Amino acid sequence: MRALNNYIPLLLLFYFFNINSENPKDDYAIVIHGGAGWFSNLPEDEVEGIKKGLKQALDKGYEILAQDGSSIDAVEEAIKILEDNPLFNAGRGAVYNAEGVQELDASIMQSNDHNAGAITGVTTVKNPISLARHVMENTKHVMFSGEGAEIIAKEAQLDLVDPSYFYSEKNLKRLKKQQSKDDKLGTVGVVAVDKKGIIVAGTSTGGMTNKLKGRIGDSPVIGAGTWATNGCGVSGTGHGEFFIRYNVAKEICTRVLSGGLSVSDAANSVISELKLLGADAGVIVIDQYGSAAMIYNTPAMARAYKNSNGDEEVSIYK
Ligand code: ASP
Repeated sequence: MRALNNYIPLLLLFYFFNINSENPKDDYAIVIHGGAGWFSNLPEDEVEGIKKGLKQALDKGYEILAQDGSSIDAVEEAIKILEDNPLFNAGRGAVYNAEGVQELDASIMQSNDHNAGAITGVTTVKNPISLARHVMENTKHVMFSGEGAEIIAKEAQLDLVDPSYFYSEKNLKRLKKQQSKDDKLGTVGVVAVDKKGIIVAGTSTGGMTNKLKGRIGDSPVIGAGTWATNGCGVSGTGHGEFFIRYNVAKEICTRVLSGGLSVSDAANSVISELKLLGADAGVIVIDQYGSAAMIYNTPAMARAYKNSNGDEEVSIYK
């Protein structure tokens, strides 16, 4: 009996550690954004196309989670679908910088070990999110830019394409108009929690139309556009410079984990503060039980959510 008593504190510690770091109910969920903005004047077929793209990505990620797959696979595969779809500002649909070049950024982070990978300014990588994951899993670094990132992609035998693969008449028009706010095309992000309670967040983008050559936004910056820690994960979209200065993604999780706010209250508070600073912004957030928030201060955000209780949403406008 005495020997058993000696073990009780240890057992309690083990119990609490598991409760806090894992998901005792096996809940799983996935949340997606396809950019925050105005989305006004969009033809009906484009609205339907965006929703269809979101749904395809949602179903793919959800299927992986439902089949006991990992959140890292769910996030990568869902983002690849969005990167391959020219209706989103990531991969294939990336917008042009001021010199008429498409420079792509992406990042990914996982909660259980705080590992992360990010790449910026690539021009020939078909799926930047896969390169970000490769950086996370197979290099001793976190972030690579331009040529160095392309070399790693080549060594990893990821799909490389001629820059003409990203050519888009529509995005060139956007550049010529210097991007009216109305004509918004969205960065993409996915956050998922799997049955083990591991949260992964990923973000991929072409950045902002007419950005200066070499400009890096928040999407590949860990803590700004992407963050995942035990109990909370975030991906953001909007005016990247503000996200970097405000460390938005991490700030939201700090308010959840240290401030005791729900994911919606934490996201709402940060997104309202960004509005006061004049920043267009949107975020998706998830906790370890699959509760999610999709919060934005613009008229619309392309978004989707599905959880293991069967709740599902795919929408763009309020
Ligand atoms: N956050 C992205 C950037 O600043 C753009 C966006 O989300 O629309 O590069």
